[in-house]
Amino acid sequence: MRAVVIGGGLAGLSAAIQLSVDGASVTLIESNGTLGGRVRKQDSGDWVLDSGLHLMRRRGPFQQLLRRLRAPRVLGKRWNATHMVGIGTENSHAREVLSAMRIEGGDAAERAIVPTGGWSNLVDKIITAAEGMGVNIHTESQVEGLILDESGKIRAVSVNNEQIECDGVVLAIPPNAIIKLLQGTNLSTNSLEACTEHRVATIDAALIGKPMLPYSGFFDIESGVIVVDQTKPDRVPTRGSEGDCTLLHAVCLNSDGEEGLNAIKTLLDTRYPDWRNMVAVRRSTKSVMLHPCKESERVPGDLFLESGIALAGTHVLTSHALSDAAVDSGRKAAKALKNR
Ligand SMILES: Cc1cc2nc3c(=O)[nH]c(=O)nc-3n(C[C@H](O)[C@H](O)[C@H](O)COP(=O)(O)OP(=O)(O)OC[C@H]3O[C@@H](n4cnc5c(N)ncnc54)[C@H](O)[C@@H]3O)c2cc1C
Repeated sequence: MRAVVIGGGLAGLSAAIQLSVDGASVTLIESNGTLGGRVRKQDSGDWVLDSGLHLMRRRGPFQQLLRRLRAPRVLGKRWNATHMVGIGTENSHAREVLSAMRIEGGDAAERAIVPTGGWSNLVDKIITAAEGMGVNIHTESQVEGLILDESGKIRAVSVNNEQIECDGVVLAIPPNAIIKLLQGTNLSTNSLEACTEHRVATIDAALIGKPMLPYSGFFDIESGVIVVDQTKPDRVPTRGSEGDCTLLHAVCLNSDGEEGLNAIKTLLDTRYPDWRNMVAVRRSTKSVMLHPCKESERVPGDLFLESGIALAGTHVLTSHALSDAAVDSGRKAAKALKNR
Protein backbone atom coordinates (compact mmCIF):
# COMPACT_ATOMS: atom_id res chain seq x y z
CA MET A 1 0.00 0.00 0.00
CA ARG A 2 1.15 3.54 -0.73
CA ALA A 3 0.14 5.53 2.35
CA VAL A 4 0.34 9.25 3.01
CA VAL A 5 0.28 10.53 6.59
CA ILE A 6 -0.60 14.21 6.93
CA GLY A 7 0.69 15.84 10.14
CA GLY A 8 4.03 15.14 11.83
CA GLY A 9 2.97 15.33 15.51
CA LEU A 10 2.82 12.30 17.78
CA ALA A 11 -0.32 10.94 16.12
CA GLY A 12 1.17 11.16 12.61
CA LEU A 13 4.51 9.69 13.68
CA SER A 14 2.76 6.82 15.43
CA ALA A 15 0.67 6.11 12.33
CA ALA A 16 3.70 6.32 10.01
CA ILE A 17 5.68 3.87 12.15
CA GLN A 18 2.81 1.36 12.31
CA LEU A 19 2.19 1.60 8.55
CA SER A 20 5.91 0.97 7.90
CA VAL A 21 5.93 -1.99 10.28
CA ASP A 22 2.96 -3.38 8.34
CA GLY A 23 4.87 -3.09 5.06
CA ALA A 24 3.35 0.07 3.52
CA SER A 25 5.38 2.58 1.58
CA VAL A 26 4.87 5.71 3.71
CA THR A 27 5.15 9.43 2.99
CA LEU A 28 4.76 11.80 5.95
CA ILE A 29 3.89 15.41 5.20
CA GLU A 30 4.31 18.18 7.77
CA SER A 31 3.64 21.87 7.17
CA ASN A 32 6.19 23.08 9.73
CA GLY A 33 9.98 22.99 9.35
CA THR A 34 10.33 20.34 12.09
CA LEU A 35 8.44 17.26 13.22
CA GLY A 36 6.94 16.78 16.68
CA GLY A 37 3.87 19.02 16.42
CA ARG A 38 2.97 20.70 19.69
CA VAL A 39 5.90 19.19 21.54
CA ARG A 40 8.84 20.74 19.72
CA LYS A 41 12.01 21.33 21.72
CA GLN A 42 13.30 24.87 22.07
CA ASP A 43 16.88 25.45 23.17
CA SER A 44 17.50 28.66 25.05
CA GLY A 45 21.29 28.95 25.29
CA ASP A 46 22.47 26.21 27.60
CA TRP A 47 19.01 25.58 29.02
CA VAL A 48 16.70 23.18 27.22
CA LEU A 49 13.11 24.17 27.89
CA ASP A 50 10.31 21.93 26.73
CA SER A 51 7.21 23.78 25.66
CA GLY A 52 4.64 23.17 28.33
CA LEU A 53 4.80 20.82 31.23
CA HIS A 54 4.81 17.24 30.19
CA LEU A 55 4.18 14.09 32.16
CA MET A 56 3.88 10.63 30.70
CA ARG A 57 1.50 7.98 31.94
CA ARG A 58 3.14 4.75 33.04
CA ARG A 59 2.38 1.82 30.74
CA GLY A 60 0.22 3.96 28.43
CA PRO A 61 0.36 3.71 24.59
CA PHE A 62 3.16 6.32 24.39
CA GLN A 63 5.39 4.42 26.80
CA GLN A 64 4.53 1.16 25.03
CA LEU A 65 5.53 2.65 21.66
CA LEU A 66 8.89 3.72 23.11
CA ARG A 67 9.37 0.22 24.51
CA ARG A 68 8.64 -1.30 21.09
CA LEU A 69 11.19 1.08 19.58
CA ARG A 70 13.69 -0.05 22.24
CA ALA A 71 14.24 3.39 23.71
CA PRO A 72 14.80 2.40 27.35
CA ARG A 73 16.75 5.40 28.59
CA VAL A 74 13.97 7.91 28.04
CA LEU A 75 11.86 6.69 30.93
CA GLY A 76 12.55 8.85 33.96
CA LYS A 77 11.61 8.67 37.57
CA ARG A 78 8.07 8.70 38.90
CA TRP A 79 6.51 12.14 39.24
CA ASN A 80 6.36 13.02 42.95
CA ALA A 81 2.59 13.45 43.15
CA THR A 82 2.52 13.69 46.94
CA HIS A 83 4.04 17.19 46.72
CA MET A 84 1.36 18.56 44.37
CA VAL A 85 -0.82 21.01 46.26
CA GLY A 86 -4.38 22.19 45.63
CA ILE A 87 -5.18 25.85 46.36
CA GLY A 88 -8.89 26.17 47.14
CA THR A 89 -9.33 22.48 46.35
CA GLU A 90 -8.20 19.04 47.52
CA ASN A 91 -4.66 17.91 46.73
CA SER A 92 -6.13 14.83 45.07
CA HIS A 93 -8.16 17.07 42.70
CA ALA A 94 -4.99 19.05 41.89
CA ARG A 95 -3.27 15.79 40.91
CA GLU A 96 -6.20 14.73 38.76
CA VAL A 97 -6.32 18.10 36.97
CA LEU A 98 -2.59 17.87 36.26
CA SER A 99 -2.98 14.34 34.97
CA ALA A 100 -5.89 15.16 32.61
CA MET A 101 -5.05 18.85 31.96
CA ARG A 102 -8.76 19.54 32.44
CA ILE A 103 -10.43 21.33 35.38
CA GLU A 104 -12.84 18.44 35.82
CA GLY A 105 -9.85 16.12 36.27
CA GLY A 106 -9.25 12.55 35.24
CA ASP A 107 -6.92 9.70 36.21
CA ALA A 108 -4.76 10.14 39.32
CA ALA A 109 -1.28 11.47 38.52
CA GLU A 110 0.53 8.96 40.74
CA ARG A 111 1.15 6.80 37.68
CA ALA A 112 2.83 9.65 35.77
CA ILE A 113 6.55 9.99 35.15
CA VAL A 114 8.85 12.82 34.10
CA PRO A 115 10.77 11.50 31.09
CA THR A 116 14.55 11.49 31.20
CA GLY A 117 15.89 14.24 28.97
CA GLY A 118 12.46 15.84 28.89
CA TRP A 119 9.53 15.39 26.60
CA SER A 120 11.28 16.54 23.46
CA ASN A 121 13.82 13.75 23.88
CA LEU A 122 11.02 11.20 23.61
CA VAL A 123 9.77 12.79 20.43
CA ASP A 124 13.32 12.81 18.99
CA LYS A 125 13.52 9.03 19.55
CA ILE A 126 10.29 8.52 17.64
CA ILE A 127 11.39 10.76 14.76
CA THR A 128 14.70 8.84 14.51
CA ALA A 129 12.77 5.54 14.47
CA ALA A 130 10.47 6.75 11.68
CA GLU A 131 13.46 7.91 9.61
CA GLY A 132 15.23 4.59 10.25
CA MET A 133 12.19 2.68 8.97
CA GLY A 134 12.39 4.51 5.66
CA VAL A 135 9.41 6.85 6.08
CA ASN A 136 9.69 9.43 3.34
CA ILE A 137 9.45 12.72 5.26
CA HIS A 138 8.51 16.08 3.74
CA THR A 139 8.64 19.07 6.10
CA GLU A 140 7.60 22.62 5.19
CA SER A 141 5.02 21.06 2.93
CA GLN A 142 1.45 22.24 3.22
CA VAL A 143 -1.18 19.78 1.99
CA GLU A 144 -3.68 21.78 -0.03
CA GLY A 145 -6.33 19.19 -0.79
CA LEU A 146 -7.33 15.55 -1.18
CA ILE A 147 -8.19 14.10 -4.57
CA LEU A 148 -10.83 11.36 -4.68
CA ASP A 149 -11.69 9.20 -7.70
CA GLU A 150 -15.21 8.82 -9.19
CA SER A 151 -16.10 6.12 -6.64
CA GLY A 152 -15.19 8.47 -3.77
CA LYS A 153 -11.91 6.71 -2.87
CA ILE A 154 -8.69 8.61 -2.18
CA ARG A 155 -6.42 8.78 -5.23
CA ALA A 156 -3.84 11.44 -4.36
CA VAL A 157 -3.01 14.37 -2.10
CA SER A 158 -2.09 17.75 -3.46
CA VAL A 159 1.08 19.27 -1.94
CA ASN A 160 2.95 22.38 -3.11
CA ASN A 161 1.11 22.23 -6.46
CA GLU A 162 2.12 18.61 -6.98
CA GLN A 163 0.13 15.41 -6.59
CA ILE A 164 1.30 12.43 -4.52
CA GLU A 165 -0.57 9.29 -5.62
CA CYS A 166 -1.69 7.01 -2.80
CA ASP A 167 -4.05 4.20 -1.75
CA GLY A 168 -4.72 5.44 1.78
CA VAL A 169 -4.34 8.56 3.91
CA VAL A 170 -4.10 9.21 7.64
CA LEU A 171 -5.22 12.69 8.63
CA ALA A 172 -3.25 13.37 11.84
CA ILE A 173 -4.15 17.05 11.98
CA PRO A 174 -6.66 19.01 14.11
CA PRO A 175 -10.37 19.14 13.18
CA ASN A 176 -10.23 22.67 11.72
CA ALA A 177 -7.37 21.66 9.38
CA ILE A 178 -9.28 18.53 8.30
CA ILE A 179 -12.36 20.60 7.48
CA LYS A 180 -10.26 22.80 5.18
CA LEU A 181 -8.75 19.80 3.40
CA LEU A 182 -12.10 18.14 2.84
CA GLN A 183 -13.61 21.20 1.20
CA GLY A 184 -14.35 20.32 -2.38
CA THR A 185 -15.08 16.66 -1.54
CA ASN A 186 -18.58 15.47 -0.71
CA LEU A 187 -17.54 14.06 2.70
CA SER A 188 -19.59 15.48 5.56
CA THR A 189 -17.58 17.39 8.17
CA ASN A 190 -20.52 18.16 10.52
CA SER A 191 -19.14 16.23 13.52
CA LEU A 192 -15.72 17.89 13.10
CA GLU A 193 -17.31 21.33 12.89
CA ALA A 194 -18.90 20.71 16.32
CA CYS A 195 -15.44 20.40 17.98
CA THR A 196 -14.64 23.18 20.48
CA GLU A 197 -10.91 23.88 20.93
CA HIS A 198 -9.49 24.47 24.40
CA ARG A 199 -6.61 26.94 24.13
CA VAL A 200 -4.32 27.90 27.01
CA ALA A 201 -1.49 30.32 27.85
CA THR A 202 1.81 28.93 29.16
CA ILE A 203 4.99 30.19 30.79
CA ASP A 204 8.14 28.05 30.81
CA ALA A 205 11.10 29.36 32.81
CA ALA A 206 14.45 28.31 34.20
CA LEU A 207 14.98 29.84 37.65
CA ILE A 208 18.20 30.07 39.63
CA GLY A 209 16.84 29.03 43.01
CA LYS A 210 14.21 26.72 44.44
CA PRO A 211 11.28 28.97 45.40
CA MET A 212 8.69 26.18 45.19
CA LEU A 213 10.23 23.87 47.78
CA PRO A 214 8.99 21.79 49.54
CA TYR A 215 6.33 21.38 46.84
CA SER A 216 6.70 20.04 43.30
CA GLY A 217 3.62 21.80 41.97
CA PHE A 218 0.26 23.39 42.64
CA PHE A 219 -3.10 23.99 41.04
CA ASP A 220 -5.23 27.04 41.89
CA ILE A 221 -8.92 26.34 41.37
CA GLU A 222 -9.91 30.01 41.07
CA SER A 223 -7.54 31.05 38.28
CA GLY A 224 -7.17 27.58 36.74
CA VAL A 225 -3.37 27.90 36.87
CA ILE A 226 -1.15 24.81 37.20
CA VAL A 227 2.53 25.32 38.05
CA VAL A 228 5.05 22.49 38.31
CA ASP A 229 8.76 22.15 38.90
CA GLN A 230 10.14 19.59 36.43
CA THR A 231 13.82 19.96 37.30
CA LYS A 232 15.89 16.87 36.65
CA PRO A 233 19.67 16.42 36.61
CA ASP A 234 19.75 15.89 32.83
CA ARG A 235 17.78 19.11 32.12
CA VAL A 236 20.04 21.66 33.82
CA PRO A 237 23.15 23.15 32.23
CA THR A 238 26.59 22.11 33.38
CA ARG A 239 27.05 25.15 35.62
CA GLY A 240 23.84 24.42 37.56
CA SER A 241 22.60 21.53 39.62
CA GLU A 242 19.20 19.98 40.27
CA GLY A 243 19.40 21.18 43.86
CA ASP A 244 19.67 24.89 43.11
CA CYS A 245 17.50 25.60 40.08
CA THR A 246 13.91 25.14 38.96
CA LEU A 247 12.49 24.26 35.56
CA LEU A 248 9.12 25.84 36.02
CA HIS A 249 6.21 25.12 33.69
CA ALA A 250 2.91 26.94 34.15
CA VAL A 251 -0.39 26.64 32.28
CA CYS A 252 -3.57 28.67 32.67
CA LEU A 253 -6.47 26.33 31.94
CA ASN A 254 -9.13 29.05 32.25
CA SER A 255 -7.96 31.44 29.52
CA ASP A 256 -5.35 32.10 26.86
CA GLY A 257 -3.88 35.38 25.50
CA GLU A 258 -2.79 38.25 27.78
CA GLU A 259 -5.48 37.30 30.27
CA GLY A 260 -4.06 33.80 30.71
CA LEU A 261 -0.45 35.02 30.93
CA ASN A 262 -1.44 37.65 33.52
CA ALA A 263 -3.24 35.03 35.59
CA ILE A 264 -0.06 32.94 35.71
CA LYS A 265 2.16 35.93 36.57
CA THR A 266 -0.23 37.19 39.26
CA LEU A 267 -0.31 33.81 40.94
CA LEU A 268 3.48 33.44 40.81
CA ASP A 269 3.89 37.00 42.17
CA THR A 270 1.55 36.21 45.05
CA ARG A 271 3.18 32.94 46.02
CA TYR A 272 6.81 33.65 45.15
CA PRO A 273 7.32 37.45 45.15
CA ASP A 274 10.99 37.08 44.17
CA TRP A 275 10.59 34.70 41.22
CA ARG A 276 11.18 37.36 38.52
CA ASN A 277 14.67 38.07 39.92
CA MET A 278 15.54 34.39 39.62
CA VAL A 279 14.75 33.98 35.90
CA ALA A 280 17.64 32.73 33.73
CA VAL A 281 15.45 32.05 30.68
CA ARG A 282 11.73 32.57 30.20
CA ARG A 283 9.34 31.83 27.36
CA SER A 284 5.72 32.91 27.26
CA THR A 285 3.19 31.37 24.88
CA LYS A 286 0.02 33.40 24.53
CA SER A 287 -2.09 30.70 22.99
CA VAL A 288 -1.59 27.01 22.29
CA MET A 289 -4.21 24.36 21.68
CA LEU A 290 -4.37 21.94 24.60
CA HIS A 291 -7.41 19.88 23.55
CA PRO A 292 -8.87 20.01 20.02
CA CYS A 293 -12.35 19.22 21.40
CA LYS A 294 -14.31 18.30 24.51
CA GLU A 295 -14.38 14.62 25.52
CA SER A 296 -18.01 14.36 24.36
CA GLU A 297 -17.14 15.80 20.92
CA ARG A 298 -14.59 13.16 19.92
CA VAL A 299 -15.23 11.56 16.53
CA PRO A 300 -14.74 7.97 15.30
CA GLY A 301 -11.39 7.40 13.62
CA ASP A 302 -13.08 5.43 10.84
CA LEU A 303 -15.49 8.24 9.87
CA PHE A 304 -14.13 8.36 6.29
CA LEU A 305 -12.59 4.90 6.10
CA GLU A 306 -14.70 3.89 3.10
CA SER A 307 -12.86 6.60 1.18
CA GLY A 308 -9.48 5.25 2.34
CA ILE A 309 -9.06 8.09 4.87
CA ALA A 310 -8.41 7.35 8.58
CA LEU A 311 -8.35 9.96 11.35
CA ALA A 312 -5.79 10.26 14.17
CA GLY A 313 -5.28 12.75 16.99
CA THR A 314 -6.76 13.61 20.37
CA HIS A 315 -10.13 14.49 18.80
CA VAL A 316 -10.56 10.81 17.87
CA LEU A 317 -12.45 8.40 20.15
CA THR A 318 -10.10 6.30 22.27
CA SER A 319 -10.06 5.37 25.93
CA HIS A 320 -6.86 7.41 26.37
CA ALA A 321 -6.06 11.10 26.84
CA LEU A 322 -3.48 13.63 25.62
CA SER A 323 -0.31 12.16 24.08
CA ASP A 324 -1.54 8.62 24.77
CA ALA A 325 -4.66 9.35 22.71
CA ALA A 326 -2.48 10.74 19.91
CA VAL A 327 -0.22 7.66 19.81
CA ASP A 328 -3.09 5.19 20.23
CA SER A 329 -5.28 6.79 17.55
CA GLY A 330 -2.31 6.97 15.14
CA ARG A 331 -1.62 3.28 15.54
CA LYS A 332 -5.28 2.37 15.16
CA ALA A 333 -5.66 4.56 12.06
CA ALA A 334 -2.75 2.70 10.45
CA LYS A 335 -4.24 -0.68 11.36
CA ALA A 336 -7.68 0.37 10.04
CA LEU A 337 -6.19 1.36 6.67
CA LYS A 338 -4.31 -1.90 6.40
CA ASN A 339 -7.33 -4.05 7.33
CA ARG A 340 -9.75 -2.15 5.10
C1 LIG B 1 0.72 23.11 27.22
C2 LIG B 1 0.53 21.66 26.94
C3 LIG B 1 0.82 20.72 27.90
C4 LIG B 1 0.62 19.37 27.66
N1 LIG B 1 0.94 18.45 28.63
C5 LIG B 1 0.82 17.14 28.38
C6 LIG B 1 1.20 16.18 29.35
O1 LIG B 1 1.64 16.51 30.46
N2 LIG B 1 1.08 14.87 29.04
C7 LIG B 1 0.60 14.45 27.83
O2 LIG B 1 0.52 13.24 27.60
N3 LIG B 1 0.23 15.34 26.88
C8 LIG B 1 0.33 16.67 27.13
N4 LIG B 1 -0.04 17.58 26.18
C9 LIG B 1 -0.74 17.10 24.97
C10 LIG B 1 0.18 16.61 23.87
O3 LIG B 1 1.19 17.55 23.62
C11 LIG B 1 -0.71 16.44 22.63
O4 LIG B 1 -1.78 15.60 22.94
C12 LIG B 1 0.01 15.80 21.46
O5 LIG B 1 1.23 16.46 21.24
C13 LIG B 1 -0.90 15.90 20.22
O6 LIG B 1 -0.25 15.33 19.10
P1 LIG B 1 -0.96 15.33 17.67
O7 LIG B 1 -0.05 14.64 16.74
O8 LIG B 1 -2.34 14.79 17.81
O9 LIG B 1 -1.17 16.87 17.28
P2 LIG B 1 -0.09 18.01 16.92
O10 LIG B 1 1.09 17.89 17.82
O11 LIG B 1 -0.85 19.29 16.94
O12 LIG B 1 0.39 17.66 15.43
C14 LIG B 1 -0.34 18.02 14.28
C15 LIG B 1 0.66 18.37 13.19
O13 LIG B 1 -0.03 18.55 11.95
C16 LIG B 1 0.59 19.61 11.25
N5 LIG B 1 -0.39 20.09 10.23
C17 LIG B 1 -1.55 20.72 10.43
N6 LIG B 1 -2.18 20.96 9.24
C18 LIG B 1 -1.37 20.45 8.26
C19 LIG B 1 -1.46 20.37 6.84
N7 LIG B 1 -2.51 20.86 6.13
N8 LIG B 1 -0.44 19.78 6.15
C20 LIG B 1 0.62 19.26 6.82
N9 LIG B 1 0.76 19.31 8.18
C21 LIG B 1 -0.23 19.90 8.89
C22 LIG B 1 0.92 20.62 12.35
O14 LIG B 1 1.93 21.52 11.94
C23 LIG B 1 1.40 19.68 13.47
O15 LIG B 1 2.79 19.45 13.43
C24 LIG B 1 0.13 18.95 26.41
C25 LIG B 1 -0.16 19.89 25.41
C26 LIG B 1 0.03 21.24 25.66
C27 LIG B 1 -0.30 22.24 24.59
